[in-house]
Amino acid sequence: MTLTASTTDSFTDGLRIAVIGGGITGLAAAHHLAMANADLQVTLFESSRRLGGIIRTEEADEFLMELGPDSFITNKPGGIQLCEELGFADQLISTDTRYRKSLVLSRGRPRAVPDGFMLMSPEKPLAILTTPILSLKGRLRLLGEYFVRSAGAQDDESLASFVRRRFGAETLDRLVQPLVGGIYTSDPEKLSLRATLPRFLDMEQQHGGIIRAVLAASSSKQKQASRIAEAGARYGLFATPSGGLSQLVSAIEQKLAGCPGFTLRLNSPVQNLQQDTQQDQTAWLLETFAGRQTFDAVIVTLPTHAAARLLSDDSFADLRQELQQVEYASSALVISGHQLSDFRDRMEAFGMVVPAVENREILAVSYASRKFPNRAPAGHILLRTFVGGAMQPELLDREDDEILDSVERELQGIYGLHRAPLFAEVIRYQRAMPQYHVGHTSRVLRIEDQLKKFSGLQLAGSSYYGVGIPDSISSGRSAAETILQSLAADEADPPR
Ligand SMILES: Cc1cc2nc3c(=O)[nH]c(=O)nc-3n(C[C@H](O)[C@H](O)[C@H](O)COP(=O)(O)OP(=O)(O)OC[C@H]3O[C@@H](n4cnc5c(N)ncnc54)[C@H](O)[C@@H]3O)c2cc1C
Repeated sequence: MTLTASTTDSFTDGLRIAVIGGGITGLAAAHHLAMANADLQVTLFESSRRLGGIIRTEEADEFLMELGPDSFITNKPGGIQLCEELGFADQLISTDTRYRKSLVLSRGRPRAVPDGFMLMSPEKPLAILTTPILSLKGRLRLLGEYFVRSAGAQDDESLASFVRRRFGAETLDRLVQPLVGGIYTSDPEKLSLRATLPRFLDMEQQHGGIIRAVLAASSSKQKQASRIAEAGARYGLFATPSGGLSQLVSAIEQKLAGCPGFTLRLNSPVQNLQQDTQQDQTAWLLETFAGRQTFDAVIVTLPTHAAARLLSDDSFADLRQELQQVEYASSALVISGHQLSDFRDRMEAFGMVVPAVENREILAVSYASRKFPNRAPAGHILLRTFVGGAMQPELLDREDDEILDSVERELQGIYGLHRAPLFAEVIRYQRAMPQYHVGHTSRVLRIEDQLKKFSGLQLAGSSYYGVGIPDSISSGRSAAETILQSLAADEADPPR
């Protein structure tokens, strides 16, 4: 039987679905379920006393601080689509065009990333030829990518291997590693190109190289550019709510609160999950401190290491083993407020990434109040400095005070900061950043295969198909849709 959105409605009336984890993935999943059928009984379990997970916005003394992510990319549909469904899109703001520039630390000095250099695709050869970030030899080697032969069909390859092979070691060390590292906080020797930036593998296979692909795309690109310009005029490449990302969390929470079938359980860590074998139809037993509850389906939106802990029953042994193999990096974020006049540098950019070869104790600095308006009072600046990640895990063994001292020293050395910050705070993220190592795509396929054994169980979140907010939202929605389809199919044609 083929089920459509309208047929799933009547078949899923009154069914009980648990969503575990109240971060953006769990919220997106719960929202999708509640909007699909108001008669579903959806319960969201969150271990802490607040929703949002990694997303957290705070305000103090006219500083508006993002303690986790600060925005989301708009060229992936998840974030914008959800905001539009919530009637929330008019709250979104774009980056401040006055400071739209990214910097990379180069031999101790912040310098502009060459114009048109998008992660590793050089759109403007002249900008490459004149950048002081690379030596003359490095620049010629980068542009010489045009002549490098394709390696043929590659299933997967590490970022480092690909960039070294195509553009040379200097481009890897001085540009691509910090730019990509800024997103994934990963070791480029291990990072899977297939799982993170597959378009570059495809460009090589289809056009023989990246520069060749860029040239081939340039004519059709002009048409595309006008389309992007239209979309960009509405949102820009990065968007965020004017009052910070927690506003988005509140908007979802409010919408869910108005759904009669929705129940929110805060302070409710789920401890165990198992199939109920006593019943004819598949049912799921979920255990919290409050006791056991039965559900028809469950969506788990936790990092894979936490999901594996819930699935302790022997029947999950193979699935658990795959989940435990996904590695995570930890990082710390130092949020600091300053007077602008306390810097020698003018700080006129969105931020700076730091190559590992610079041997610094910071990964990147986001100039938060330059990127988005109304994040700091006039004459002040709010910075978000990232520390640790997969390349420098040892820095997180330090006490908070040591991290604050080291960040202040780095800001002094790089920007000529000559006074202590007005305030500074360390926020730690333990094992929060999934590492998509070579082979990640195959592992996720194996996880999907394992899941097929357990009707009514779905996994979602940033550990599988993309690490950002739009990916997490799409993953939550897609898990919810899969559950709706499978429950409706079971109701329409019950298993004997
Ligand atoms: C420092 C940092 C900066 C980032 N910056 C950006 C950015 O600028 N833009 C962007 O797009 N992405 C960014 N990301 C990624 C983005 O934050 C994530 O993709 C997204 O927030 C993941 O949401 P989630 O719901 O999957 O997980 P989480 O936010 O981790 O939510 C999981 C939830 O589950 C709860 N939980 C855990 N165990 C249990 C249990 N046993 N029972 C019940 N509940 C439980 C937790 O308390 C938590 O609330 C950043 C990530 C980090 C770490």
